[in-house]
Amino acid sequence: MTKASPEALAATIGWVGSHDRFVIGSHLDPDGDSLGSSLALALALDRLGKISAVVIAQDLPERFGWLPGADRVRTSATVPADARAAILVECSDFRRCGLEGIDEIESLNIDHHTHNAMFADLNWIDPRVAATGMMVRRLIAGLEVEITPQIATLLYVTVLTDTGSFRHSNTDAEALQFAADMVRAGADPEVISEQVYGNVAASRVRLLADALATLTFELDGQVAWMFLGRDDLDRRGTQDTEGMINQAQEIAGVAVSLLFKEVTAGVYRISMRSDGSLDVASLATRFGGGGHARASGCQLEGNLETVRRTMLGAVAAGLSDAEDLT
Ligand code: 5GP
Ligand code: MN
Repeated sequence: MTKASPEALAATIGWVGSHDRFVIGSHLDPDGDSLGSSLALALALDRLGKISAVVIAQDLPERFGWLPGADRVRTSATVPADARAAILVECSDFRRCGLEGIDEIESLNIDHHTHNAMFADLNWIDPRVAATGMMVRRLIAGLEVEITPQIATLLYVTVLTDTGSFRHSNTDAEALQFAADMVRAGADPEVISEQVYGNVAASRVRLLADALATLTFELDGQVAWMFLGRDDLDRRGTQDTEGMINQAQEIAGVAVSLLFKEVTAGVYRISMRSDGSLDVASLATRFGGGGHARASGCQLEGNLETVRRTMLGAVAAGLSDAEDLT
């Protein structure tokens, strides 16, 4: 049985059917795919009469507060005491889910990243799909639960955000067909776009201005990087940097872009984007992170100077190796 085979889906459907009292976990820095997938699954489990708790280790980002079912998201760093089984969506390993005790109960792992540690009792991984939400839809169908307008809205968000509004290389016929199916099931593209993209907090725009003020080019403009320090994040009162990196990646001639974000003193989260000339997932994996070939992330400790040198050195070496191959 391969990890993305129909047998893996059948095993997943059977596993969910034979368990109850779930904790649904996803990854740190939750995004549209992890939250949309988690909540869609929770709403579907409700309809089966199964109990589930959606738990994330951080506060729900404000801009996702409108998602159907968002009020049921609990912020905690530990698994609820009554949970009997864990479903992890979009999670490369136990650590990235951030929940203490998650590895002590039976677990199911649903993800679309190539670099997944296959850490659970049952692992269903399908890197061919644009969003984990597309796998969740298959699971929900297999459980014979109807896609309600609320579930359709959540699942539409997963593919909208993971394809960068249907612009990234993962935007294929299947992703567009999936979006169309969700619209037929009751998702409203205009309302959802307004919520996701038209409702930005002023503090976030000011933080973006801080990041853009640091924009620096290397290697004749092939690499662009930006930086946000603790002082910037504290002054603006928001941690929300999701998508900011795209501003650097969109610049003509930029092959790879990086955003360095100081999450706590001396700890940097690095977001990377690539135009395809460098596999940034492999690069991030070398530093304990992961992601996709064109969008990845990792975390490093040190001061900005050393962290920046380490990452930019690895990017430069990677780009020059990639050039040697062509
Ligand atoms: P972002 O830059 O938007 O935070 O992340 C881009 C992609 O890389 C996403 O698919 C995200 O899940 C993945 N990613 C970011 N940071 C990490 C990390 O520390 N570990 C792993 N495994 N994946 C990460
Ligand atoms: Mn995803």
